[in-house]
Amino acid sequence: MNTQKLLPLTISLLLGIVFAAGCAAPSAVPPFPDAPTAAATSTPFQTTRIDLDDELYIRQIRQNVFVVTHSFPWPANALIVEMANSELVIVGSTYTPEAMRQVLAWVEERFGPRNISAINTGFHVDNLGGNSALIEQNIPVYGPDLTAQLLEERGEQTRQVVLGMLPGAKNEGYYNAHAEIRFAPPTNLFPIAEGLQLSFGEEQVQVYYPGPSQASDKVVVYFPNAKVLFGGCMVLGGEQIGNTSDADLENWPEAAQKLKQFEVEVVVPGHGERLDAGLIEHTIALLTARP
Ligand SMILES: [Zn+2]
Repeated sequence: MNTQKLLPLTISLLLGIVFAAGCAAPSAVPPFPDAPTAAATSTPFQTTRIDLDDELYIRQIRQNVFVVTHSFPWPANALIVEMANSELVIVGSTYTPEAMRQVLAWVEERFGPRNISAINTGFHVDNLGGNSALIEQNIPVYGPDLTAQLLEERGEQTRQVVLGMLPGAKNEGYYNAHAEIRFAPPTNLFPIAEGLQLSFGEEQVQVYYPGPSQASDKVVVYFPNAKVLFGGCMVLGGEQIGNTSDADLENWPEAAQKLKQFEVEVVVPGHGERLDAGLIEHTIALLTARP
């Protein structure tokens, strides 16, 4: 990474005053909800943590399930699942192609050569910022048609929102990196309302659109065999709703209700340490308690 590293203390302070970029309001930014130490006790999984660098780590929560967290500077989650036929599925993204290259290098080291597929869950930078690194390795990137459309129409506008949240010399490294991210849309589009089913041998992966939520194009990804749901930014992992600038607050609780159809043991939110099935109800409760 050629970007400026901040001191750990500065990062702690940053986490205290800002919230995830893709889901973050430029004004009235709430505190980041999950203090890692407090959250660890609420995660009922034996996890092994692998640090790729100061801003990028991977938690192995099952034999075949890995949660990637990129803090740039706000923590955001992606997911890697090893399917029964040995193919790998990457859901979500790091903020930057550089971080995704680090993840792919780790994947190569750990698994050796594998077929990899990737799935984008929205047009915000925390959902697809690493795409160009996937595409340069010829990894197919599935995503909703609406995501490609919104990225083209509003990608640069949302970049300016993120840059506005990175003021001052202490953020210069992050600012410059976010200014330079080359946005790339998903390569394999599907009609968002229809969702998508991918097959890996006998095993299926379901991409589901529950309607507008944290943004109008957010989809979730369900792994029925593993009972893992990647909820992304429409599932709230902390105690704050965060950015609602692109949200449909009327429909979001209803969209979250629809996630109850999935039999889940693990739910991965867009942001936050918690990974338990209670996050769906937690999300509904936060949204309906909104003043
Ligand atoms: Zn987000």
